Amino acid sequence: MKKLLMSCLIGLSFSAQAQVPALPDAVESLVDGVMPQVVEWRRDFHQHPELGNREFRTAGIIADHLRALGMEVQTEVAHTGVVGILRGGREGPVVALRADMDALPVEEQVDLPFASRVRTQYNGQDVGVMHACGHDNHMAILMGAATVLADMRDELQGTVMFIFQPAEEGAPEGEEGGAELMLKEGLFDDIRPDAVFGLHVWPIPAGQIAVREGGTMASSDSFRIRVQGQQTHGAAPWAGIDPIVVASQIVMGLQTIPSRQLDATLTPSIVTVGAINGGVRSNIIPDSVEMIGTLRTFDAETRRQIHERVERTATQIAASAGATVDVNISLGYPVTYNDPELTRNMAPTLQRVAGERFVEASLITGAEDFSYYANEVPGMFFFLGIGADDPAMVYPNHSPFFYADERALPVGVKAMTALALDFMNGNGL
Ligand SMILES: [Zn+2]
Ligand SMILES: [Zn+2]
Repeated sequence: MKKLLMSCLIGLSFSAQAQVPALPDAVESLVDGVMPQVVEWRRDFHQHPELGNREFRTAGIIADHLRALGMEVQTEVAHTGVVGILRGGREGPVVALRADMDALPVEEQVDLPFASRVRTQYNGQDVGVMHACGHDNHMAILMGAATVLADMRDELQGTVMFIFQPAEEGAPEGEEGGAELMLKEGLFDDIRPDAVFGLHVWPIPAGQIAVREGGTMASSDSFRIRVQGQQTHGAAPWAGIDPIVVASQIVMGLQTIPSRQLDATLTPSIVTVGAINGGVRSNIIPDSVEMIGTLRTFDAETRRQIHERVERTATQIAASAGATVDVNISLGYPVTYNDPELTRNMAPTLQRVAGERFVEASLITGAEDFSYYANEVPGMFFFLGIGADDPAMVYPNHSPFFYADERALPVGVKAMTALALDFMNGNGL
């Protein structure tokens, strides 16, 4: 996930639900059987991370495995994406399971025998590459679930689509990528899933599963505001229009969007100005100032309102000083929205897998391009704890010290497998 903020997740009402039966023994033993391979895949991916749209080696390993399981496999979807279709022995719904594949330009600082030493070029710079967001775990977990479900193929009542998606962290400059491009290339055109599930590893206690209904991760849009004033001597401001003072007023004005203009009871919103650039020396009032920032919220309608209000606030404040503005908002990832009915229906499945470690997730102000799938078909995105017991080893995603406790892996495989099975058996419909 992009630009995430550290967040704590708290246990709420879900864990108070009635006892639900454990997974069938047959599923448990199939999962146990595949776990050594899952760990091996995860470590191999971890040691050989690849950046977005460059997941060539990774894609090859995944495609070979899905083919070996006897699936219909499509490769080079949205550059390096891999899609496997597993048709069960009986008719039933279509369920999609998604894992993202890309690593980050981060130099690994974790002391592991399989730590990444990979370096590459990124936007013209020499960088280290690391699975600092834990997507290595996502892929290994989904390959494990694919193995288990393929073993049960004859009994499956429906179809499973395995989506291995490149470039969740964003495509390289000048390229398209990720979930949006997979959908644009027709991912859901021939076989339309009835539901899509995805998980993200998160620095909460290892093996914990956290989920919530509705808006779960934020939309993430960026803006650029150029304030056009009129250059003059710093000692004679009345002879021009000072864009620095106007920009300062706009910064303050933008803060009234979340605090004064939006319904505070509906959902949190964030407006952040991340940079202001203008001027060259102390005694010159410059001609213009440029500001850039980010906009986050958890509700599609609120998102639309924020865009409108950023434009209005900047334009009118500038007009009050005789300045003009050019406001440009670039759309990033939409709100990751968990379909409430689907989430309510599938929560018992997650609870069954995580037991006492099943909690309600708090809002996360980072963004995820899983949101594009969930805007097409009902979706549910949940978090899997990978935090070590030693607090000194717990770091947020994207940190060079990000460490994933492998005790989470079997929980992840069971969760993905059980979601697919239960959904196909009609629990989610
Ligand atoms: Zn990330
Ligand atoms: Zn991520």
